[in-house]
Amino acid sequence: MKKGTWMVIDGSVRKMKPGITLAFMQDKYPDKRIDKCHKPPSINQMEEWMGECGCESLDGCWVEPDGTCEHGQPSWMLALGFI
Ligand SMILES: [Zn+2]
Repeated sequence: MKKGTWMVIDGSVRKMKPGITLAFMQDKYPDKRIDKCHKPPSINQMEEWMGECGCESLDGCWVEPDGTCEHGQPSWMLALGFI
């Protein structure tokens, strides 16, 4: 699978072109909150998480479906607007 870098920019998930780094983006948009995140989950994956009454956050922590992890990253369901 092709390796890409995913980032959350002011709450919306974007896939970055190869070579774009977090530092570059933060330098370019100093007034936005930008974090690296994992590849967004599939719908099936999220349904599975729903069944487990939890959800991964953007950085891979296990949180409540509508929760935020200790690093300040929201769950994927929150970030993607599912709840
Ligand atoms: Zn975390």
